[in-house]
Amino acid sequence: MCAVKSIGFETGEKYARELDLSDPLRKYRERFHTPRSMIYLDGNSLGLLSKDAHASILRVVNEWKTLGIRGWLEAQPPWFYLAENLGSTCAKLVGAKPDEVVATGTTTINIHSLVNTFYRPCGSRRGIIADELDFPSDIYALKSALELRGLDPDIDLILTPSKDGRFLEESEIVELMDERVALIFLPSVLYRSGQLLNMQYLVEEAHSRGIPIGFDCCHSVGIVEHHFDKLDLDFAVWCSYKYLNGGPGSTAFLYVNRKHFDQKPAIAGWFGCVKDKQFDMSLEFQHSKSAGGWQISSPAILSSAPIEGSLKMILEVGMEEIRRKSLKMTSYLTFLIDELLSQYPYNFSIGTPREDHRRGGHVAIEHKEAMRISAALRTRGIIPDHRRPNIIRVAPVPLYNTYSEVRQLIQSLKEIIEGEEYRGLSRNRKMIS
Ligand SMILES: *Cc1c(COP(=O)(O)O)cnc(C)c1O
Repeated sequence: MCAVKSIGFETGEKYARELDLSDPLRKYRERFHTPRSMIYLDGNSLGLLSKDAHASILRVVNEWKTLGIRGWLEAQPPWFYLAENLGSTCAKLVGAKPDEVVATGTTTINIHSLVNTFYRPCGSRRGIIADELDFPSDIYALKSALELRGLDPDIDLILTPSKDGRFLEESEIVELMDERVALIFLPSVLYRSGQLLNMQYLVEEAHSRGIPIGFDCCHSVGIVEHHFDKLDLDFAVWCSYKYLNGGPGSTAFLYVNRKHFDQKPAIAGWFGCVKDKQFDMSLEFQHSKSAGGWQISSPAILSSAPIEGSLKMILEVGMEEIRRKSLKMTSYLTFLIDELLSQYPYNFSIGTPREDHRRGGHVAIEHKEAMRISAALRTRGIIPDHRRPNIIRVAPVPLYNTYSEVRQLIQSLKEIIEGEEYRGLSRNRKMIS
């Protein structure tokens, strides 16, 4: 791994406070409900509730209370158009056209829907490229897409290998793109190591071979800038409960490139109908020529409501500012680990790319006692998450975390090792870690 680029950071606590004082996003923290006496560094698993999101939930609850079914057309905005409405707002975050994004379903459902739409095996061209570091749910969905067609995942699911269990080489993915391949589906940011793939290069290489390509952007939307128009990818999915702070199980998003609006949605349902024909109740499915055509069921209004407030704030700040602070926080964290905790007896190391353009929003801190150290952190009110076997995953979130919190994490890791605080803790895993 290449040397640390210590862009003038310092290790002291006073310096962390100075960074906070000069932080242009400082005021946004107050617009969140931050749990008391807790340092929350798990925004890459479940973002916190903002006051804006709280307000938009309450408004929708009140609309239900006062309007009943009339809310579908009379709520503001009307529930009937909420999915498209949130989609066009979120499109601004990813640099897509307003009708190319819709809020619908959940990530895994949307993977099933879009993979089955874009996967068109034909003769010997029937492989799907993914990677062996992928999030399990994505792989389960790809395997079931193959099995539904009577194909064998052991043969037709082509998993790009990783040399070190952390990173992927884009050039190796490209080498797999041959005439056997019918579809490519990859994460934008790897959920463990936080590596951000070079999406532009992958899309260009895929398209030069006539292979459609889609991305799972769960770990990038809201923290990494995207320019889908320029990228010209075929499709994408992402959830709204990580960096979009939409709440547990909140409605996800999907993107379909305009040039594919005529494709027939693989998993059809009545909410994908052309809007003004939906209530004709015709038995002929005529899908809307927009991302909205890939909706299946009645939108989950209550699970979509918080996203409105949340997106409004993110757009107010702007993705460029969010990304700038995120990169600064993650490189500061990396710097502190390198400077203070990389030697004996601490032995922490960084399993995340150091180059800004290859890094998403979180940092994987590696240690062989990662699980028990994560538990010790939680006992101290610091919330990271643990990914087996040796990763403590932390995401300093630009909208609500501070540099001082990052500094306190480092101080706690130091004390946990010095006091051997983790030694007494159980090696048993919790159901959710
Ligand atoms: C968070 C995440 C998911 C979650 O899927 P759900 O269907 O929302 O439970 C899927 N894939 C990736 C890569 C994720 O990061």
